[in-house]
Amino acid sequence: MEQENAARWLTVELVPKTCWFSNVRDHVDKETWDRLRKQTYAKAGNRCEVCGGRGPKWPVECHEIWHYDDARQVQTLVGLIALCPACHEVKHIGLAQINGRYEQAQAHLARVNGWSADDVSAYLEGVWELWYRRSRHEWRLDLSWLEGLGVSVTPKR
Ligand SMILES: [Zn+2]
Repeated sequence: MEQENAARWLTVELVPKTCWFSNVRDHVDKETWDRLRKQTYAKAGNRCEVCGGRGPKWPVECHEIWHYDDARQVQTLVGLIALCPACHEVKHIGLAQINGRYEQAQAHLARVNGWSADDVSAYLEGVWELWYRRSRHEWRLDLSWLEGLGVSVTPKR
């Protein structure tokens, strides 16, 4: 079972619970966020960049990709991608669980990756283990990727 960013794999990206204010929209004004997400949708042709699908009510949502440097304890924004609502829900499967949609999210993960229920369970075990480990300490936030796009950032942490 390959998990490392092979182009079209759907992966879970839980944000550690100690990453306060880690939404881009918390750090930029509303017009900037709207511009960033609309650019992301347009670049992807309004299709999900993982499964190629579109949502029934709205086609795609904007997902923030973070890199976690575990040694330096820095959370760095590395990009924005367009995802259909179902794939986006898998990225934040902890929230899906809170919303009573854990099974639906697991089923979507299995379908997109062609995984069995056992594959999904084994994968999620690793995901939760990593989340607990990363949630034990605070993270510094690096939003310099946005500055590279000419966006001025007012960091909240
Ligand atoms: Zn998708």
